[in-house]
Amino acid sequence: MEEWVTVAPWRQDRTYHPPEDHCPLCPTRPGHPETEIPEPDYYIAVFENRFPSFTGEQGRCEVVCYTPDHDSSLGEQSVEHIRDLIEVWRDRTSELSRLPNVRYVYIFENRGEEIGVTLSHPHGQIYAYPFLPPVLKRELRAEARYIRENGRCLYCDVLEGERQGERTVLGDENWIAFVPPFARWPYEVHLAPRRHRGGLLDLDADDDESFARILKGLLQKYDRLFKRPLPYVMAMHQTPPGRARNDHHFHVEFYPPNRTRDKLKYLAGSELGAGAFIVDARAEDKAAELRGA
Ligand SMILES: [Zn+2]
Ligand SMILES: [Zn+2]
Ligand SMILES: [Zn+2]
Repeated sequence: MEEWVTVAPWRQDRTYHPPEDHCPLCPTRPGHPETEIPEPDYYIAVFENRFPSFTGEQGRCEVVCYTPDHDSSLGEQSVEHIRDLIEVWRDRTSELSRLPNVRYVYIFENRGEEIGVTLSHPHGQIYAYPFLPPVLKRELRAEARYIRENGRCLYCDVLEGERQGERTVLGDENWIAFVPPFARWPYEVHLAPRRHRGGLLDLDADDDESFARILKGLLQKYDRLFKRPLPYVMAMHQTPPGRARNDHHFHVEFYPPNRTRDKLKYLAGSELGAGAFIVDARAEDKAAELRGA
């Protein structure tokens, strides 16, 4: 109830684990069949998904290839490269926000076979939804109520509560990465600007630089934690188009499905049927593990 399900049967035929030399996200090598990117090389590439969940007047799905290097990852890019990627994300946010019927621009990455990724080439996606997705709707509702009752931004106060640093994974004067006390996954981490920002369009040059550094630092810790690439979902929660920047505090959430190196957390009765997550670890302990990685 009060949720949306998008039915996209044409996605059944989407590319599923293609052989390495047929990666559709690699540049088109001379003498080889054309990939999604008809160029011999690129820096960062964005194109419309051929198997979109949303299309035409009803939203948009884009693919963002972080690098032409097939065997790389977001965390392995230089800080400068990630800063340029932030610029690309910002550019797409501003462009897609202006499309008719677009109610929300959602930037995300699915990484790892464990969460069903069909292409291993380092890439993320952008969905421009024709509706406000339920997770954001709920966050905005909670933020609006908190402002009404307390006159302050909810997330600014959450960050205030992280001052002692027990749940901090890493940070600098502009950005922080921490395991929130309300984390639903053992290694869930939130990245956020310490000062109030509504979204990518709101960040200044210092914010961009710190964002790139902290993002890279977190991803490196994730991969060092179990000495293997850690699967995750990265979810950017920006202010919806047309809303005031004070309505929402920009943050990026990471959900790795792992409980241990080889064990995954499965969503079961309580999580799926009742929407109540049970976590068997303290945020403080998980943050300490990640800090030490
Ligand atoms: Zn590739
Ligand atoms: Zn705030
Ligand atoms: Zn959020």
